[in-house]
Amino acid sequence: MPVNILNLPGLQVLDFKETDTEYHVKAVPAAHSKLCPHCGLSHSTIGHGKLPLFVRDLPTHGKRMMIHVDAPRLLCKPCNKTFTATIPEIDANRLMTSRLVGWIGRQALDYTFAAIAEQVGIDEKTARNVFSEYAAKLQADFKRETPVILGIDEIYLGTARGVITNIGERTVVDMLENRYKTTILAFLRSLEHPERITHCGMDMWRGYREAVQEVLPHVAIVVDKYHVARMGNEALERVRRKMKETLTPRINLGLKHDRKLLTKRKHDLTDHQYLIVTGWLNSFSLLGTAYDLKERYMQIWDVETKEEALATYLNWEATIPPELAKAFRPITVAWRTWRKYILNYFDDKRVTNAFTESFNAKIRRAYQNGHGYSFEVLRAKILFSDALQKRSKVQEQVKVKRKQRFEDVGMERMCFELIVAEPEPQYDVRTVVRVTNLGTDLPTLLAEIDGWTI
Ligand SMILES: [Zn+2]
Repeated sequence: MPVNILNLPGLQVLDFKETDTEYHVKAVPAAHSKLCPHCGLSHSTIGHGKLPLFVRDLPTHGKRMMIHVDAPRLLCKPCNKTFTATIPEIDANRLMTSRLVGWIGRQALDYTFAAIAEQVGIDEKTARNVFSEYAAKLQADFKRETPVILGIDEIYLGTARGVITNIGERTVVDMLENRYKTTILAFLRSLEHPERITHCGMDMWRGYREAVQEVLPHVAIVVDKYHVARMGNEALERVRRKMKETLTPRINLGLKHDRKLLTKRKHDLTDHQYLIVTGWLNSFSLLGTAYDLKERYMQIWDVETKEEALATYLNWEATIPPELAKAFRPITVAWRTWRKYILNYFDDKRVTNAFTESFNAKIRRAYQNGHGYSFEVLRAKILFSDALQKRSKVQEQVKVKRKQRFEDVGMERMCFELIVAEPEPQYDVRTVVRVTNLGTDLPTLLAEIDGWTI
């Protein structure tokens, strides 16, 4: 008997050959199922030849592994139909061992489909399909604790994808294929205990707002501060770019070079930087006015209350000169449409999604660098890696049905069991500790991404 190189109890090795790159193993099944797929009976079958199978297995010692095994063909006597017996350890649909299927799923989180396909001796598309099934299984067990403060954001990976976060816990709760309203609606409806959510931070995307209003009418919507505040800089940049038409190329280049200083808050500039900025502002009065508007716009977030913030905004809006109205219009439009939700930021919680910005930047880079990445793999890597999950223990009160003991039931009940109605069930309240998954921990994830190989 040759060495059992496979280490699979369901397959008995008869022989094996070895080349520089491959192992070829001849094996017979130790057992097989006689269950007829046509009628569901298994008691009466007779042999009806063999079907030679060529099955892939885990790469071993750096070589591809191929198993040659004959699957018994059986004839079912009751229904007079033939079928191929299933062999344990073999995924008959794929002509792979079941352990190879699981291995490919796990490997795909760290290596490209092309690399895996090459190692196993399959094509890339098969590796991709095996992974998709693996991810679907993980998805079926996927459950995250409903956040108290929910965040809805997006990230551009090929197209705009939805990113759902737990703002209070700094975790990623889910990543959605796209950010369509229907997708957001379906996600929100899938949440357990939606009544636990008090706030939802988002940027100014109508689909988000409408979905939340429809499914979670009790939740306070808060527009992310940074999305509103950065519009001040975007307006200033529009003014700068528009000036291009009237300036010499040399001046344009200098202005472009210093644009990062212009978009910095004035109080964050060093003395040297301040000199450069004032130089530009004194030379071009329109730029000076736009800069002043930008700085005063940012001051809205320096105040404490909703009322002060609104007053600061309205005063600011009244000072936009006609020649800058167009450049600053996106701001006035946003404040007209989203005012209530922008001002909600000034309530106690100061809800902001700002921490997802660094996540977005790093993930985008990983997506662009890794040629083997698809959104599906990236999502699985982020959401399903066990080591990245933030867990917590919560104590919960649960009602448990009290077991009835013999003496509680009584003789009467014993005798008339069939005709006496069930007695009222008794409940006990017990405290249990439940381990919850709060989502993928962002600080841990950000540290981990730097080490990703693809
Ligand atoms: Zn049958």
